Amino acid sequence: MIKRLSDSFFGKAPVPFCLIRVLSDALGKTKNHSILEANAIFLKLFNLSQEMVIGQRLSDLLFYKNQATDFWEQLFDDSHSKQFYLEKKTDDLTPETKLHVWIFPLEPGFFGCVIRDVTTEVYLENEFEAFLEISVDMFCMADPDGYFLKVNKRFEEVLGYSIEELENKNFFTFIHDEDIAATLGVMNQLKEQKEISHFINRYRCKDGTYKNLEWRAVPKGYFFYASARDVTDMIKKEESLRNAAIIDPLTGLYNRNFFYGRVFEEISKSQTNGVPLSMIAIDIDHFKFVNDIWGHPVGDEILERTARFLKSTLRSSDVISRVGGEEFVVLLPNTQIDEAMNVAKRMFEILNNTPHPRVGKITASFGVAERHKNEDFNQWYKRADDAMYVAKDRGRNTIVSSGDTAKPVNASIYLEWKEEWNCGEPTIDGQHRELVEIGNKLIFLTVSGASPQSISDQIDHLMLFVANHFSAEEQITSKLNFPDFEQHQKIHQSLLIRAGEISSGFLKDHNKSPISLAFIINDLIVGHLINDDRKFFSYIPKT
Ligand code: GH3
Ligand code: MG
Ligand code: MG
Repeated sequence: MIKRLSDSFFGKAPVPFCLIRVLSDALGKTKNHSILEANAIFLKLFNLSQEMVIGQRLSDLLFYKNQATDFWEQLFDDSHSKQFYLEKKTDDLTPETKLHVWIFPLEPGFFGCVIRDVTTEVYLENEFEAFLEISVDMFCMADPDGYFLKVNKRFEEVLGYSIEELENKNFFTFIHDEDIAATLGVMNQLKEQKEISHFINRYRCKDGTYKNLEWRAVPKGYFFYASARDVTDMIKKEESLRNAAIIDPLTGLYNRNFFYGRVFEEISKSQTNGVPLSMIAIDIDHFKFVNDIWGHPVGDEILERTARFLKSTLRSSDVISRVGGEEFVVLLPNTQIDEAMNVAKRMFEILNNTPHPRVGKITASFGVAERHKNEDFNQWYKRADDAMYVAKDRGRNTIVSSGDTAKPVNASIYLEWKEEWNCGEPTIDGQHRELVEIGNKLIFLTVSGASPQSISDQIDHLMLFVANHFSAEEQITSKLNFPDFEQHQKIHQSLLIRAGEISSGFLKDHNKSPISLAFIINDLIVGHLINDDRKFFSYIPKT
């Protein structure tokens, strides 16, 4: 009964197998082998009858590509079971049949051989490999300790390492330090058989740069499979969009939008936990002159430079924003007025101690205010802004605390246009106004310690303007019944001679500039306007 079952098992088992006899020499070395018996499905696989198979060697039926000459002999020399992939020997043009061959010892001199047709599996595996190769996504198989077991070609393209440099390497060695904790968290979820999607971390490329990879991973038993996509460009775009909304492109400081968002957060924090909160309003002094004298691009450079200096004096928790053209606000969390005044002092000092090589010292006026309990943003901001305007009134380049605004002292050394300087003749009035403006720029250059060359250029500009103005004024006044016309002409001439001397004197020895400045302002511009020009005012016909 058992024998019959065994025979019928041998004949009908749905797996191809055969029995092999091995002949050895006296030393036990394999000399030859031959098939003793094969089951029906084995015969079908090779399309042979039992008679044709019996006595054949496996090497007559199977083809092994890179076969050592004594491959078959070695196979039976020891008595271990062995597995390998071979192809079916074939004379016709049928596609190669891939076989998985498993040989195992039965008893001395006898081996069993089980064969499995793996053509379809190999084909599918090749297809899968090809699919992985052309995929725009990165695919990998990894183990729970973080070792890449298999990666596709896309990894090479994205990260710059060869496949060999990645496979069997621990991927934590490539991950950005700041992303390791989050990646460990994700690995733990995978170990709990949870799927992961939309997880982003940064991988170091072969060239040392980092790329953002977005992962999707699924656990499969002990291992997990993951696909990733390079989202570096997308993240950069998102970041620049986010930045565009809150960062001022010229200075790199936060913009007004950000400031308004942040200030309410800080007010609410301070209101809740009672910590102090202060603010400094800053406005660059006479910035218009910078643009007028050196042009807008230099103005931009000065803005960027000033912003950098201001920021360099702050703690990382302080927030500086550019809220207007040349206006800045600093928010100082957890800071009382005295400390805020010290911060303003540091800013004041850095501006006063680091003049621009050509433009000279650019200063600012500072208004400092600590928020009162329950004070709303507008009230608090107004106090800081008002203090800043008091600083302007006190002559600029100064710091005013909002508790100290009572007596604004007008200490300006700049000329301010006065209504009584208008004569009613539009050309003359326009030129007089411009004369005052040019004079102010000269004061600005001298005060800020601009380079002698730029001061001298401005004096030349003034001289040319004055000469043209005198001649235009003479042309107009010659048509009036102005009795002192000739006298006035003479004054013009002597002023021009004196101004010419001062101008060339300044070029020779610019240390004398304060003297020339006094002449230019007191005699040439204001003195002449008040004392001499006013004499013809009454002769201008009233329109
Ligand atoms: P004050 O001391 O009273 O503040 O005088 P000021 O000249 O600084 O003030 P004003 O408000 O009259 O002039 C500010 C100038 O800042 C006018 C404007 O052209 C200039 N400005 C604003 N934004 C920019 C910018 O982005 N680049 C440049 N170059 N100039 C700017
Ligand atoms: Mg301003
Ligand atoms: Mg200003």
